[in-house]
Amino acid sequence: MTDRKAQLAANLAQVEERITSACTAAGRKREEVTLIVVTKTYPASDVRMLHELGVRHVAENRDQDAAPKATACADLSLTWHFVGQLQTNKVRSVTSYADVVQSVDRLKLVTALSGAAVRAERELGCLIQVALDAESGERGERGGVAPDGIEELAAAVDAAEGLRLDGLMTVAPLAGPFAGRQRAAFDRLMEFATRLRAGHPAATMVSAGMSADLEDAVAAGATHVRVGTAVLGVRPGLG
Ligand SMILES: *Cc1c(COP(=O)(O)O)cnc(C)c1O
Repeated sequence: MTDRKAQLAANLAQVEERITSACTAAGRKREEVTLIVVTKTYPASDVRMLHELGVRHVAENRDQDAAPKATACADLSLTWHFVGQLQTNKVRSVTSYADVVQSVDRLKLVTALSGAAVRAERELGCLIQVALDAESGERGERGGVAPDGIEELAAAVDAAEGLRLDGLMTVAPLAGPFAGRQRAAFDRLMEFATRLRAGHPAATMVSAGMSADLEDAVAAGATHVRVGTAVLGVRPGLG
């Protein structure tokens, strides 16, 4: 094994142990939580090693980086999640490799994703990104729709050709009433997820939790955690 692969293997084992412990503490089965490794800013060679180490879900947040990486890894059986703020002019590219877009936060994006999915003859999974700290009618600083906008977007995704409503995603707010209170934030997301499922029974995904707070997300009931730094290391510069 190369040094890099050994390092990734050790980091993955640590993250795996954290998820398992969090599941045990919450009385949940390990299979209820899917690890998504956020590979943004890291090269395709890392994605390839992660695949060899058993990772099957990866996430990216910038199309410019993600598109060539996904092309370089097209021979691998991976589920690609797009988790970044998405401009409509990137939708066509993202739709060519992403299996799930976790950052759906406005109607214009639903329309664009639907058009691109139909044209590409693909079905695209969609999560509504919720900004827990956004005021009614506004969007969060890091993207996401205010909680009172969830149902309108969910209904639009449900009605859109080529799209499949999979559930909800959030990033724990850095400011506002939930700042520093990840568990409370994720509990709140779970309330919205439960409400959503009442009207959309297939929308079972709840994506929450990153390297620093995955335990809180598992405790709250998340089905997917998105972990970057703890697996790949601290990202140089932005990202
Ligand atoms: C980068 C990123 C993550 C992973 O964050 P880490 O702290 O590196 O684990 C998760 N979700 C989103 C939306 C991200 O952009």
